[in-house]
Amino acid sequence: MIRVRFAPSPTGFLHIGGLRTCLYNWLFARKNKGKLILRIEDTDRERFLPESIFNLLKTLEECGLDWDEGPVLSSKNTIKQKGRYGPYIQSQRLKIYQNFAKKLVDLGAAYYCFCSKQRLEELRKTQISLKIPPRYDKHCRNLSPEQVKKNLKSNIPYVIRLKVPDQGKIKFKDIIRGEIEFELKNIDDQILLKSDGWPTYHLASVVDDHLMKISHIIRGEEWLSSVPKHLLIYNALKWKPPKMAHLPLLLNPDLSKLSKRKGDVSVESFLQKGYLPEALLNFIALLGWNPGNDEEIFSLKQLIRLFSLKKVGKSGAVFNREKLLWMNGYYIRKMPIDKLAKYCLKFLIQEELITPIHNKKTKFKITATGEIVQINWLKKIIALEQERLKELKQIVELSEFFFKEPKYEAELLFWKKMTKNQVKENLESIKTEFSKIPISKFKKPFLEEIILKLAEKRGRGEVFWPLRAALTGKKASPPPLEIAEILGREKTIQRIDKAIKML
Ligand code: GLU
Repeated sequence: MIRVRFAPSPTGFLHIGGLRTCLYNWLFARKNKGKLILRIEDTDRERFLPESIFNLLKTLEECGLDWDEGPVLSSKNTIKQKGRYGPYIQSQRLKIYQNFAKKLVDLGAAYYCFCSKQRLEELRKTQISLKIPPRYDKHCRNLSPEQVKKNLKSNIPYVIRLKVPDQGKIKFKDIIRGEIEFELKNIDDQILLKSDGWPTYHLASVVDDHLMKISHIIRGEEWLSSVPKHLLIYNALKWKPPKMAHLPLLLNPDLSKLSKRKGDVSVESFLQKGYLPEALLNFIALLGWNPGNDEEIFSLKQLIRLFSLKKVGKSGAVFNREKLLWMNGYYIRKMPIDKLAKYCLKFLIQEELITPIHNKKTKFKITATGEIVQINWLKKIIALEQERLKELKQIVELSEFFFKEPKYEAELLFWKKMTKNQVKENLESIKTEFSKIPISKFKKPFLEEIILKLAEKRGRGEVFWPLRAALTGKKASPPPLEIAEILGREKTIQRIDKAIKML
């Protein structure tokens, strides 16, 4: 049975690289009819943020990824756990790790270290000044059993360290990278259990991967250097290590490691800006994996069918934000209007352009004017902007003028070298003609007939430009007649009037 895990540390937000790791595990599990386990690695208490577990579960759910075992959010927004290998939150498994740490000591694969913080600090300083890599000097490695017993009896604080052989090599076969060999002499005697009884990542993840019957570990390349330490633990306990695949690093376009400093990298912030989960997943699926041709748009279903660890590359994958933006725009354009409206309404409400009316799903209030509008009217606006949206949150900026009087300077009304009089006359003619149209016919085809006639006489730009500016206060917008239709006769004329008065 294929069993894979995603094992994030809840130290804040979910990094986009974490989402890729989760996605690849998910695809691998779904493709092979295996199980995906979510495990929360919260043993680093200094970096732990309690609310981040909750956020993590919510974000993964929002992205549409699911898992078979591990913590899940219940309908009451509390955290439950499902699966028979739990608990899946490491802070709830301390006893297990403590027992295995002791077992490793008994087996001679680990040892008690009683060195004080101060001694370790001095050691580190000396090593740095001598320009040798800071590392534990194995001071306690050969304490006699009597000495150890005595120290334990006198309650001297201790940690448990891995006893890394002084020489020799350890190797393993990575699914993506092939055979990899490590010199043991370069490896530190890693702390496995800290003096407060908490395990380090290394001990906890090996113990859990074994007890949770993980068959394949798929994770980022940054964990590759931990593998020899883990293998020593597996070997000592006579456990069979899972197969491993280390995914290529994610890079900025300048090939530095993708990090917070060069812009947002949290999945939460991408979702908040209005990246669609399907676009995000499609985009990150291609960060390291490729289908072997130059196709780029894939649904999750297609990805499950095509995904293979064999097609994951070794070299770093560049995180190209423009491409993500393009892909998001693509998915937005393809989206049925009802679904798109659901997403966009959230942003319009959040930015207080509209206010939901209690208990009504189809009616909203325009916040600035108090006017009640139907959802179908809002859908027309959204459909009009659909082509231009790349991030959903742009709906706010793009459509604001439908909900508030636009603010602009009179200069905006001038097309090229038009004189003030020309602009005024043109706007006045539009106003006169528009006023003659009955409300029921205030629709694009009728408006077009009139405007095209005017444009023939007065010039296209000379007619369309001032009209667009008057209605939107912007240089660029969807076609002004469609806007006029949505705004309706009264508002359209009001805005034209206001523009005339500005001149
Ligand atoms: N807790 C580690 C992390 O934060 C997991 C590493 C692993 O997958 O072994 O990414």
